[in-house]
Amino acid sequence: MIPEKDRSWSEINLDHFEYNLEQLKSLLNNSENFMQIVKADAYGHGAFEIAESALRNGAVMLGVANCDEGMLLRYQQVNCPILILSPSFSDEISKIVNNNLTPSISNLDFAINLNNYCVSLNKEIMVHINLDTGMGRSGIEAEFAMDLIRSVINLSNLKIEGIFSHFAASESDLLFTQKQTNRFKRILDSLNFKPCYIHISNSSGVVTAENDFCNLVRFGILSFGIYTSKTIREKVDIKPVMSFKSRLSQIKTAKVGESIGYNQTFVTNRPLRYAIIPVGYADGYDFMLSNLSQVLLRDELCPVIGRISMDMIAVDISGVPEAQVDDIVTLLGDHPDEITAENLATLYNGSSYELISQIGRRAKRYFLKDDKIKTSEPILRRDFVSSDFPDTKLNLVIESAITQRLQSREVANLVYDEILRKLFADKDKDISYRKDFKHEIVFTESTEFPEYYRTTTTLQFNKKITHDYFYVVCANSSSELARYFLRNDVEYRWLLDENVLLSEKMFTITDARINGIPLDYNIKVNNSCLEIFFTSEKIKDLIGQEVNFSISTETFYPRKNHQLTVYISELTKGVHISFKHVKNAENIEIIQIFSGQKKFPEIISENNILLIKTSSNEWIFPNSGVVFAY
Ligand SMILES: *Cc1c(COP(=O)(O)O)cnc(C)c1O
Repeated sequence: MIPEKDRSWSEINLDHFEYNLEQLKSLLNNSENFMQIVKADAYGHGAFEIAESALRNGAVMLGVANCDEGMLLRYQQVNCPILILSPSFSDEISKIVNNNLTPSISNLDFAINLNNYCVSLNKEIMVHINLDTGMGRSGIEAEFAMDLIRSVINLSNLKIEGIFSHFAASESDLLFTQKQTNRFKRILDSLNFKPCYIHISNSSGVVTAENDFCNLVRFGILSFGIYTSKTIREKVDIKPVMSFKSRLSQIKTAKVGESIGYNQTFVTNRPLRYAIIPVGYADGYDFMLSNLSQVLLRDELCPVIGRISMDMIAVDISGVPEAQVDDIVTLLGDHPDEITAENLATLYNGSSYELISQIGRRAKRYFLKDDKIKTSEPILRRDFVSSDFPDTKLNLVIESAITQRLQSREVANLVYDEILRKLFADKDKDISYRKDFKHEIVFTESTEFPEYYRTTTTLQFNKKITHDYFYVVCANSSSELARYFLRNDVEYRWLLDENVLLSEKMFTITDARINGIPLDYNIKVNNSCLEIFFTSEKIKDLIGQEVNFSISTETFYPRKNHQLTVYISELTKGVHISFKHVKNAENIEIIQIFSGQKKFPEIISENNILLIKTSSNEWIFPNSGVVFAY
């Protein structure tokens, strides 16, 4: 079934997971929804796949331990509400807000910091108040709960979407569970509002506790098919989701009296055939299982003998004479009972939660659906987050990824050097682009300068602004103008004829706006360039946002030139360039020099107007343009 030869791997049976969800859902009443807990990579089952499957099966929310886990899901395009169950640090606030995560609130200081940040962004955020009703871990103590809730209500940009608490022993201590429930209810009763979500039950609580006054429950361990107590076993039917498997890597024999493994904790009392499996406690197969557990080989249970090493274990295979190197062994699985997580954990008085969240952590993970492999996850599971890496490492990662795809180091180097390094390695360079670029140029006869056409231009485009100012530059020589090509604060350049006196009269700004806000400007001659500086107090607040630029000028263009060039100097999406001459457009030739998705955008000619345009989602690369020859 597993296509590649892995040293060890986990199999995540999504059919079992969905079966478990169905069983647990059948215990809910009509007004109860469920949140799927996917913290700690869904208890070692793979947060993304588990989240997807749960959402498809009715989960209204996901629960994670911290904002990092929430961010990873956001990177993978999981867009549903995500609740952070543990208390967050104040320095995580920007990540929480900007990734649209829902924090839980256990203290006022954090709430105030969160509110301040949200006020600064003019943004509202949902929060869940976490009450400690007896767990004695996170959450506000019951006696201070009302004070905290009242204070949070008064914080303008926080909205209390939920109030929750957490059981300490819902699988085994029903009396204490009831006590916690009563405390929780008492607080809820004294509220004068009803939050959207009230929740207290973890998965065991769903089976054992009273939930009628809640409308949300949190599915964890039972959804992964692991029983938490005998009571639970009697009341619900679930199937283990995770199996962990490996292969026999060596088969040996030992004579009587030989020891196997570190510290000679196992000494043979009979001749023994045994096998080495390349899995140890570093794979999450707990050291405490030494000399205690069994593995399944060809439907027979084989005892682990000697100590679990970091990377290996030995198993007694005397019961399986036909065993061979390469045979698959199951170390954790759905049957028989001896190798389920709860029974393995019981062997050493350990925790099944710990066992499943650790086991297979350096193995590949395969997701099974309808008895087929749906997908797999690599050994190092942390999904690729580029900000995790320093630049040098990131460059290596990108380069090696391209090399692998193209199967040629030479071509890969070229692609990388020419494209990516230019775009990304040069950190000072902003990768910005213009959208809906519209440039209209109109020639009319000029009476005061008969040698020239009076030229009005209107430039409009959308772009993210990074400064609260920009420049428009005009020069007599192209070499002068070239100095401004690479500057990202220059939005428009005009080449004036060399015979024209460089002055405000010959190049006038008739209108300049950002998002319709008129801009202040002043003009300065710098060497032989006219620099026009634009700014406005009112655009400061727009920094970082996409805005609409609109710049109109009036100037003069020599009649003798017979050609006019419009350059596109930046990455641009969607172009619309029009040129209105005094002559009929039929006499004008168009030379297009576009690079991008299309080499030859559409040309529309009507009377004396020529229009060149692309659809608004078409990309044009820098150094494109068009020459009008007349
Ligand atoms: C982990 C966790 C759960 C899930 O608990 P299970 O016992 O695995 O069902 C629910 N709520 C909170 C707050 C948790 O931290």
